[in-house]
Amino acid sequence: MDEKVRHESNRGKIFVVSAPSGAGKTTLCTKILARFPELAYSVSHTTRAPRTGEKDGIDYFFITETEFKKRIEQNLWAEWAQVHGNFYGTSMKFIEENIAKGNHLLLDIDVQGAKQFKQSFPESITIFIMPPSIDVLEQRLKKRGADPDEVIAKRLVNAAGEISQRSFYQNVIVNDDLQRAQQEMEDIISRIRSGRYH
Ligand code: ADP
Ligand code: 5GP
Repeated sequence: MDEKVRHESNRGKIFVVSAPSGAGKTTLCTKILARFPELAYSVSHTTRAPRTGEKDGIDYFFITETEFKKRIEQNLWAEWAQVHGNFYGTSMKFIEENIAKGNHLLLDIDVQGAKQFKQSFPESITIFIMPPSIDVLEQRLKKRGADPDEVIAKRLVNAAGEISQRSFYQNVIVNDDLQRAQQEMEDIISRIRSGRYH
């Protein structure tokens, strides 16, 4: 094997997961991270306020809009986007350092971010999580109780636009039955790790 091929094959794999808010992405990603301890979660940066229970450096790095914009000018984001009125971004340094070490990464980012990211890292594997329907999505967002009604309304409007772009993704998983959806996601990750992915 020549040096370049060996170098490429030692790089960590990147899984990019997107879904409309409330589809169950956090629930599924938490289960997947517990199932695959060698998979690291890419903690995003955001200007949104922390929700109850969210911790800085674990769920997100919570930063100011001024700081976020400074990092745009400094070209420090692997991708960034404005989602539901807040800025979200993935650190380029974090991604490059980890894949160079051979660490596999899981990114939870929106559709705009996934498209940018795939241009810089075309080898990444994209997964879209679908809710069974918009009605079910609304019920889940209300039941979660994390957001006020006007925020939920904004997220539902966004959801239709995001779902219409699902064909961009290499894998689409419908999260109706949680166990089945988890199994589908585990199968994709297992296939990649064993080199059986096409
Ligand atoms: P997201 O991260 O995509 O915004 P969450 O993982 O927070 O979504 O899930 C939204 C709500 O839906 C949570 O209350 C979660 O427990 C619930 N949920 C997730 N998956 C399912 C499922 N397959 N069936 C029923 N409820 C689900
Ligand atoms: P939430 O505010 O519910 O945690 O996330 C809202 C949306 O922002 C979700 O679709 C989530 O995937 C997306 N998001 C989280 N982190 C990032 C990021 O670093 N970049 C981009 N582009 N989107 C992100």
